[in-house]
Amino acid sequence: MTGGDQGAGELVVVATPIGNMGDLSPRAAATLQEADVVCCEDTRHTGQLLARLGLRASRLLSVHAHNERERVAEVLELLERGERVALVSDAGTPTVSDPGERVISAAIAAGYKVTTVPGPSAAVSALVVAGLGTARWRFEGFLPRRGADRARRLGEIAVAPHPSVIYESPQRISSTLHDLANCCGGDRRVAVCRELTKLFEETWRGTLDEACERDAAGAARGEHVLVVAAAMAGERSAPSEGAVQSAVASRMAAGASRRQAAAEVAADLGVSKRFAYETSLARNGQ
Ligand code: SAM
Repeated sequence: MTGGDQGAGELVVVATPIGNMGDLSPRAAATLQEADVVCCEDTRHTGQLLARLGLRASRLLSVHAHNERERVAEVLELLERGERVALVSDAGTPTVSDPGERVISAAIAAGYKVTTVPGPSAAVSALVVAGLGTARWRFEGFLPRRGADRARRLGEIAVAPHPSVIYESPQRISSTLHDLANCCGGDRRVAVCRELTKLFEETWRGTLDEACERDAAGAARGEHVLVVAAAMAGERSAPSEGAVQSAVASRMAAGASRRQAAAEVAADLGVSKRFAYETSLARNGQ
């Protein structure tokens, strides 16, 4: 933690391993060791991490999804006292589908120095091993679980001109693969990255249809990132009928009339309202 004004508080956002302890950088270790306070999602989890690394247990302060708003004032007080505050999450880079954004924004707004010790993130790790292009890409994080928001995001992925990186829990990987195949078409390429940097690390590459078949043959355990290939030029101008149908169906399931749903999907996916409406009827054989 160097380069700050003498006596001035500083917030350092520190990335930690996503599975392999060897990935914690020497600078991350030194920063955690020297910090007056380490803000973390789970004090037990981070306490164990520090112990495994042989680091002195600093004062740990829990900052998680349910208390971050209340913790902001406390962190600002620490900074005002000139303390060195490190911010970590359970794994990877804080704020990437993890808490920390509020604390960082508040520290910036109050004029404190905010720096980072960069390191692992499952998103970038998956992207580079997927082999689906890295020049431009989209981070989707966790998709909404259901309803119109999920349908909209799936529709965006279906027509996206760049690869999309999606986080998913082991319990939901099957339904997400099926929804993606439905929206993007089963021929779209995908990389299924599992347990990155861990003992049973695996990256499987193929089409969405193949990924669904493979999944049906035996659900894989562990943490997953999906990287879905960009839409081809033709797919970008004309989303598949399946994409339109499932987007309309999801909105109807959320309470919209067929006409409303078709109008929203038409706007989102760039097709005519009539096409969206009639395609949705064809799905039901009406
Ligand atoms: N902040 C973290 C980062 O920078 O990657 C992500 C935290 S998010 C709450 C957890 C999700 O990241 C998991 O559900 C999974 O999708 C992904 N993830 C984390 N570690 C992983 C790993 N070792 N292999 C594959 N995916 C991983």
